Amino acid sequence: MSAQGGEFGFIAALSRLAARAPQSLGLQDDGAVLALADGRSLVIAADMVQAGVHTLADAPVEQVAGKALRSNLSDLAAMGASPAFYLSTISWPGPPDEASQRALIAALQAGQEAFGLTLIGGDTIVGQGPLSLSITVLGWAEGPLLRRAGARPGDDVWVSGTIGDGWLGLTVAQGRQSGLDAADQTFLVRRYEYPDPRLKLGASLPPLAHCGLDVSDGLLADAAHLAEQGEGCVCLDPLALPLSAPARRWLARQADQDAARESLMRGGDDYELLFTAPPEHRAAIEALQAPADTRLSRIGRIVPGQGVALAQADGTVRPVRAAGFTHF
Ligand SMILES: [Mg+2]
Repeated sequence: MSAQGGEFGFIAALSRLAARAPQSLGLQDDGAVLALADGRSLVIAADMVQAGVHTLADAPVEQVAGKALRSNLSDLAAMGASPAFYLSTISWPGPPDEASQRALIAALQAGQEAFGLTLIGGDTIVGQGPLSLSITVLGWAEGPLLRRAGARPGDDVWVSGTIGDGWLGLTVAQGRQSGLDAADQTFLVRRYEYPDPRLKLGASLPPLAHCGLDVSDGLLADAAHLAEQGEGCVCLDPLALPLSAPARRWLARQADQDAARESLMRGGDDYELLFTAPPEHRAAIEALQAPADTRLSRIGRIVPGQGVALAQADGTVRPVRAAGFTHF
């Protein structure tokens, strides 16, 4: 069933199991949605983090826990929901010593305090593989939700924060970068290890944005999801890409600037929000930057067509193959 489709083919095949539940949104969004009798929605999302896959193999338990919680919360942010509860299922690589247990609990407690959610269940086993933590988050949304479908020609394309830090941080952590100073390396690795879920921003977007998601597989791949589920082509301007100061310093040292910018757009682990909105909402969206504590950058337009394209310096556009990270 997934022979020709890889991870996304498998998910498409799985979605048949969800066909009778409109709450599943066809497994095509960042979470499932249950409409409650009081008019609110309950949004549910699940994500697993495994040492060696989503972190370095020797990552400490608090880092695996922090990333698991934060990547899940990013999915709630992507739908405009606010966190309330979570379930945590952990597979230890062997019987955990007391220090590991304490570290896990402290990491989850720090996450609870930072993001305002409470543990309500889960499971613990000793498995036969690396440390793995699967978290299911539940969050409330008072009004309309942010969905992946809804892009239309004429929309601006926006992204929060900065792009490429997560991927650069991974390459630094793997020892594949040279030439960055220690402070830049620390900043980038931290961005890879502890993404910032844009919860305040996400909760403010539904009245302003036509669609949105969180950038986890890479900006180009996630832009392709908006194109597939909406109308039109996501045309991005590589020169408008928001970069952190360390990422700008990295870029300045690359021989092929276009290829380097494209690498930043293909790398995963950004956990920023990518969304589209009509131009009449520009001022209102810019005004969200201070309360949401993140910069917001207009990086492109939705134009007639399909797929993802990059604007070129000469005014033409170049379609891009938008494949991002997949597990298989
Ligand atoms: Mg997501």
